[in-house]
Amino acid sequence: MHKRLFIPGPVDVAEDVLQKMATPMIGHRTKDASDLQRSICEKLGQLMYTKNQILLSTSSGSGVMEGAVRSCTRKRAAVFSVGAFGNRWYEMAVCNNVPADKFESAWGEPTTPEMVEEALATGKYDLITVTHNETSTGIMNPVAEIAEVVKKYPDVVFCLDTVSSLGGAKIPVDEWGVDICIASTQKCLGLPAGMAVFSFSEKAKKAAEQVEFRGLYFDLLEISKYSDKKDHQYPSTPSLEHMFALDYQLSKMLEEGLDNRFDRHLAMAKEVREWAKKNFDMLADEKYASNTLTTVKNTKGISVADLNKELGKRGFMISNGYGDLKEKTFRIAHMAETQMEDIKEVLGQIEDILGL
Ligand SMILES: *Cc1c(COP(=O)(O)O)cnc(C)c1O
Repeated sequence: MHKRLFIPGPVDVAEDVLQKMATPMIGHRTKDASDLQRSICEKLGQLMYTKNQILLSTSSGSGVMEGAVRSCTRKRAAVFSVGAFGNRWYEMAVCNNVPADKFESAWGEPTTPEMVEEALATGKYDLITVTHNETSTGIMNPVAEIAEVVKKYPDVVFCLDTVSSLGGAKIPVDEWGVDICIASTQKCLGLPAGMAVFSFSEKAKKAAEQVEFRGLYFDLLEISKYSDKKDHQYPSTPSLEHMFALDYQLSKMLEEGLDNRFDRHLAMAKEVREWAKKNFDMLADEKYASNTLTTVKNTKGISVADLNKELGKRGFMISNGYGDLKEKTFRIAHMAETQMEDIKEVLGQIEDILGL
């Protein structure tokens, strides 16, 4: 039996989108391939509210995160972490011998504009990474305010992890001055895993030009130049089946209306937050709560593993807490094509199982 997924990626994929993955192959060096990539990039530009170049990577989002910190750090990176994925970004810098410092908030707390100001004022950093939506803790950082601080430092390349929020919340890349905005297909974009998308600014390009060792496969400058030179193509063989599905899914998203889509995510978030507060508690301060998933504090000391096992028998799946938060929290994703009635249904099932 297929379990309906309420986990923060991979998400359930709509049947018609899944079918697009079975489109017959085309040559990746053809005009058709260029046209496909161009069409995707135009639509992603609308979704990211940017005029910057948009690029694709046949990898999950982590590949581009590693590529960003490696390709564009000239001096030193300031990595702001509010959980597991911020910590991973720091590890990526360390493992690539990229000088970096980590600024970690307590789990459940946001990155604040003050923290960013204090770090950048030292003049030590020329690249920063921020997590927009931390999937381990269910925190959505106040990026609009952080962006105002970053704008005061025009040499700093601003990298933003929107892996679990692009497509589920508004990410105005140009307004925020984000240089590299990164997302994966298997979260709010509603596709299977295996492809990542990112925006790449002129500033990011200029920074990368000054970095000698950028790696090869995840050299973001090479991906950018190749797309320019070969009119929207990718240096190696891309996952064309993802591209067929992504192009189609993005059209569906634009048809739904971006504001409608973001509102739908927020309405589901509010429903889960109210439910969490009534029955348990939330890990995040509501002011910083994610619109795309909710991390519930397990104040009743239930066995999350048992709950999920029971949910599984009924055809549903939620997520246990991440890492150290396992059993202490559980996570309910409300992203991609999930609708309010699905959320009400899974919450009802949990109530029924736990006798709430
Ligand atoms: C899932 C996730 C990642 C990792 O992305 P992959 O596509 O699995 O490589 C990074 N950051 C955040 C916030 C995520 O939710």
